[in-house]
Amino acid sequence: MNNNHAHPSQVAKDLVVSLAYKLKVAGEIVDEADQSDPLLYLHGHKNIVPGLESALAGMKVGESKSVVIKPKDGYGDYNEDDVEIVPRSEFPEEIPLEVGVEILIEDEEGDEVSATIIEVTKDKVKLDFNHPLAGKELNFDVTVLDLRAATEEELEHGHAHYEDDDEFEDEDEDWDDDEEDGDEWEEYFGEEDEEEEEDED
Ligand code: ZN
Repeated sequence: MNNNHAHPSQVAKDLVVSLAYKLKVAGEIVDEADQSDPLLYLHGHKNIVPGLESALAGMKVGESKSVVIKPKDGYGDYNEDDVEIVPRSEFPEEIPLEVGVEILIEDEEGDEVSATIIEVTKDKVKLDFNHPLAGKELNFDVTVLDLRAATEEELEHGHAHYEDDDEFEDEDEDWDDDEEDGDEWEEYFGEEDEEEEEDED
């Protein structure tokens, strides 16, 4: 890519790692990124699950590895208490309430959290706030494609920036990028007093 004299050779803290991976759970591929569209992450800043981050430490460019990660080093154990029943009347009508659908909800602190619909009855909806991969053993096949030093800005933000991303200054988390999908829910589940902000013109 460039002639950086200090091109790093091994995955280490504060380096941006370009990674191709396949994530398999119970033999099925649930997520992947290939060479043409790799994941960029900032090593040592908890951008990825801890088990994967520690497995990647010290890997060289071009090196591949298969890693098995237990839930505690992945997305955590499944917590039965993170399931809630919500009256169906609290959901906007136009949204299809189907088992398996993931939705975004604003919690009491105003943070966006993700939940999966796990049961729908005539008047109730059961929501699971566990990460969809909580309690699962993760099987990663990874290849380190490239390494570079992080920029000042990336270190400040605590994550990698994609080259063609510059104009979107701080669209940090993945969820923030899916605004079209999330907005309705966010508004709907927002605190009631926030609705007053909507002007009627
Ligand atoms: Zn940023």
